[in-house]
This record gives sequence, C-alpha cells and structure tokens, in this order.
Amino acid sequence: MPDQQRPLSGTTPQGSVGSVRLLGVPIRLHFTFVLLLVFLIVSGLGGSQSMAYYAVYLIALFASVLLHELGHAWVGSRYGIHTIEVVMFPIGGVSRMERDPKPNQELWIALAGPLVNLVLAGVLFALLYYRHAIVGLRDLLQPTDTNLIERIAFGNLILALFNFIPAYPMDGGRVLRSILARFKTENEATRIAAWAGRMLAISMGLYGLLATHFLLVFVAFFVYLGAAQESAAAMGRTLTAGMPVRSAMVTEFHTLEHGSTIRDAANLLLATSQQDFPVMHGDQFLGLLGRNALMRALAHDGQEAYVGGAMDREPPRLSPDQDLADVLPLMAQSGMCAVVMDGNEHLVGLLTAENLSQFLLLRRFGMQPDPQHADVAH
Ligand code: ZN
Repeated sequence: MPDQQRPLSGTTPQGSVGSVRLLGVPIRLHFTFVLLLVFLIVSGLGGSQSMAYYAVYLIALFASVLLHELGHAWVGSRYGIHTIEVVMFPIGGVSRMERDPKPNQELWIALAGPLVNLVLAGVLFALLYYRHAIVGLRDLLQPTDTNLIERIAFGNLILALFNFIPAYPMDGGRVLRSILARFKTENEATRIAAWAGRMLAISMGLYGLLATHFLLVFVAFFVYLGAAQESAAAMGRTLTAGMPVRSAMVTEFHTLEHGSTIRDAANLLLATSQQDFPVMHGDQFLGLLGRNALMRALAHDGQEAYVGGAMDREPPRLSPDQDLADVLPLMAQSGMCAVVMDGNEHLVGLLTAENLSQFLLLRRFGMQPDPQHADVAH
C-alpha cells in the first residue's frame, strides 16, 4: 500500500476519526478508511466463508498495514526521528514524521515497512508449509475458512511487493530517491521518483479503466495524488533552499497589549487582514492569539476576558536566519503561524502559511527577495 512519511507537524489532519496509541505513536483512521471497511463488509458477505472468518481476515490485513507503519516508525526512532502520527487511508497508512530523514536514513526507514510484511508472509507460509496446508493460487481466489491463513500470508506478500515498486509515494519510491540522491541533488532525485509515481498511476488507471477493474482506478487515483504532493513539496524545497526566514516573514503587523480584552482583539481582527496577534508587555513577547483561540474565548469567557488567558504561550518560534527550506514542513499546515525572534528574544516578524505560499508563488515567477526586506519596517 502506498504510504508516505510526510514530515508535517501540528494537530489532527482533517477528516480523521478516532485515535489510539501504539508504541507511543497516535494512530488515526481517516474517514475514507471507514467507508472502505463498510464497502468490504457489505461486498464480502455471502460466499463460502463465515462472517467471523471474514472479520478475522479484515482485522488481520488492517493489523498488517499497521505493523508495516510501525516498522517505519521504529526504524525512524532508531535515527532519533519521532513519528507524530499514523493515519490509516483506504490504500494504506501514512506516517507523519517530525522531520525529513537524511537519504541513507530514509533508505532504511522506507525498507522497514515492506520488510515487516515480507517477514509476516514468510512466517505464515513457512507455518503452512510445515503443516502441508499450502493450496494453489487459484484456490485462493475462492475465499473459504480453510484458506484464511494463506490469504493473510498472500495479502502480506502483495503489500510488500506493491510497496517495493520504485515510484512515489510507495516505499520503493523512497528507496529509489535515497539511492538517486547519491548521484544527484535531493530535489532532482525527488522529482524523478515522483515522475515515476505519476507514470505508474496513469498506466494503472488506464489499465483499470480498460479492464473495468475499478479498485485499481481507485488505487491509481491515490497514487497520483501522493506523487503530485511529493513533487510540490520538492518544488517548495527548491524555491526556499538558501533563503532565510527573514526574507518571507511578515514585518508589518498589529500587536495586543497584555491588558487588552477579547473585545479589543476581535475589533483588530475585523479592522485588519491579520489572523494572529502577538500579545506584548512593552517590548516583551508573551504569546500569540490566533483567530480560533479568539473565537473560543469569545464563546466561553465573553468579550471582557483578557487576551492573556486565551493566548498560546508556546507558539512555534523561528530565528530570522534559519533556512526557509527547513521550516517548510512545519509550515505546511494551513492556518499555522510562527513567531520570528532575534537573538535578544525580540519579536521581529511573523511567518504564516498564507504568507509563505505567496512567497513561493513570487519565487516561482522569478522574484528575488530583497535582502533588506526585514529592515523595511520598524
Ligand atoms: Zn510503507
């Protein structure tokens, strides 16, 4: 199943339901995954297998995908890269890691997932072989209670092989990229792996349409999305590499005093196009009041409450000289706002996702940012 280790930080992605923790990693189900389960349950009923065995089959496949993801997470943690969460999509899991691994680390993190499935398949097949219970491939197409273990083993084999395909967003695409990165720049390597992913998706989709195999079209669609997302991320890295945070940050913004009320903040929200307001005590930065926190405070505490009670005291902090490419993963979430502090703990700017996307657009059309940009205001 295609999956990715997109380094997104922050809170719950949209559309996920429920959450449990395994090995310290939060696992979420995307709502489309629930739809798939319903589809599988409805379409799989009847036939010559009992309902209980069908449920065991589905749970076993789900667990296999989960173990695959935990394989990535475990090797990642060996390199000190924390997995923020695993989201289960219909065609597989997506592990979100806190940062991009280095190419040689990525090789092993990517290999770990499909290797888990390969080992599971190997162990199950060995068990069946030992018991002389292996049946032919053709018999597997007819699901029965007796070939349950073999179907689970075969499912794991498919999972492993599919993920070894050297195209983004499959794990094989990451392996390909980490190998290419030894000869080419990382961005070129990403672009090639993403291109391979798009080509794979298009051929898979066409074949699926011609052969009226619509599950394949469905998978192709997700593969295409994943590949497109990866190449956009690579483009973002190319456009921001070597650029300091100061070249993209907002330097003209309104602030609130720590004695201001929610009413003052709401008025400022209406009067400006700003969504996040730094709360200051003179020169000292105390916290950041975002639009959502403002709305929550308005609903719960009323308009006479102080902004100090509603603000975020630990918003993401950046330094003006930090490389923009390094902060891109952090900022990928829309609505995200980071404060930019200089060496003396003075607030010098804000970096928002909206502003960053405008910066990327301008860069794409060839604009060289003004190195003096940060000195224009204040
Ligand atoms: Zn994987």
